[in-house]
Amino acid sequence: MSLSRRDFLKLTGGTAVAGAVATGVTTPQEASAAVPEARIKGAKETTTICPYCSVGCGIIAHTKEGKLINAEGDPAHPVNEGTLCSKGSSLYQIVNNPQRLTKPKYRAAGASEWKDVEWDWALDEIAKRVKDVRDRTFKVMSKSKIKEKQPDGTEKEIEKEFTVNRTDAIAHVGSAALDNEECYMLQKMLRSWGLVYIEHQARI
Ligand code: SF4
Repeated sequence: MSLSRRDFLKLTGGTAVAGAVATGVTTPQEASAAVPEARIKGAKETTTICPYCSVGCGIIAHTKEGKLINAEGDPAHPVNEGTLCSKGSSLYQIVNNPQRLTKPKYRAAGASEWKDVEWDWALDEIAKRVKDVRDRTFKVMSKSKIKEKQPDGTEKEIEKEFTVNRTDAIAHVGSAALDNEECYMLQKMLRSWGLVYIEHQARI
C-alpha cells in the first residue's frame, strides 16, 4: 500500500488523538499537568569528565544530599556535545552499586582469601616493596653484543658494556583513564626508578 504525505499526517495525527483519548488527556493544560516531575528537579549540577577512557567526554552529574542520582552527557562539552557511549551512560549505576569496591584488597603470598585493607597500609606496602625490588635488581652496566667495523672493512661481533641504569624486575601498566598530566608525571617517576617495561592497557 502506498501512502501520500497527506495520508501519513492524517494517520499519525489520528493515532496521537487516539492516544490522548486513551490516557484521558484532552486539552493542552491537561497534557502539561500530565508530564511527570523530572527526577533531577532540585538536584545540584556539577560538570565532570568521564573516568573510563581517554576520549574524555564531558558529563553533568546530578546530586541530591551528596548522592549521585543521574549522570548524562554535557551538551556544552566540545568533545561529546551531550552524547555518551554505553559505559559513560551507566556511570551513575556503578557509583551507587553495592558491589563497588571501596577499599583495597590484599591476598598475602600463599593465602587463598582476599581481605580488605586500609589505603595507608596498602600504599606503604607498595612503596616498600617497589623500593626493595628496585634496589636489589638495579643494574648500572649491562653487556650487549654489537657488530664493530674492523680496519680491513669487515664487521666483527664483539661484547661491549654499556651504562643502562635500569631494573628489569618491575613493569608498569598505565590506564586509558589517565590524562596528559598524569601520564607525564608517571613517566617521570617510572623512568627515575629505572623502569623500561612501561605499557598501556589499550595495547594489551
Ligand atoms: S567511556 Fe564512553 S563516555 Fe566515557 S570518555 Fe570514553 S567514549 Fe566517552
